[in-house]
Amino acid sequence: MESRIERIKKQLHSASYKLTPQREATVRVLLEHEEDHLSAEDVYLLVKEKSPEIGLATVYRTLELLTELKVVDKINFGDGVSRFDLRKEGAAHFHHHLICIECGAVEEIQDDLLEDVEKIVERDWRFKIKDHRLIFHGICWKCQEKTDINKKTD
Ligand SMILES: [Zn+2]
Ligand SMILES: [Zn+2]
Ligand SMILES: [Zn+2]
Repeated sequence: MESRIERIKKQLHSASYKLTPQREATVRVLLEHEEDHLSAEDVYLLVKEKSPEIGLATVYRTLELLTELKVVDKINFGDGVSRFDLRKEGAAHFHHHLICIECGAVEEIQDDLLEDVEKIVERDWRFKIKDHRLIFHGICWKCQEKTDINKKTD
C-alpha cells in the first residue's frame, strides 16, 4: 500500500501536482476499496470517516485529477452513476467487467484478451487504439447454479 502511494505520488509530481493530505486521503480510500467500483459520493463518505474536514468538492476535484492522470478510470455501468476504478499498475488498457443482470455482481477480467480484435480494428479502420471499455452483461455462475437448483426442485 505504501509503495503504491509512493508511485502515485511520483505520477502526480511528474505532472506537477502535489499529493496533498486531502488527495492522499482520497487515494487511500480507493486503494482500500480496490474491488468496489465506488461512486464519488461513496468515496466522499469513506474519506469523511477518517478526515471529516475534507469536503465533497475537494474529493470530486481529486477524482477528476486522478482520472486525467490515468491513476483511475471512470466507468458507468448503465445506472447513470460514474464509478472510479483504480487502473492496475502497468496495464496499458482498461480491464473488462462482467455484470450479472440477476444479482448485480461485478467481476473483473484483468487480461486484455483483445489483441487480435485490436489488430483488426487498427488495420481495417486505420484507427489507433488508446483504450477501451468492455462490459459483458449476463448471468454469473452463482445465479446460474441457483436457477439449476430451482429447475431440479420444480
Ligand atoms: Zn473494475
Ligand atoms: Zn486492449
Ligand atoms: Zn449473479
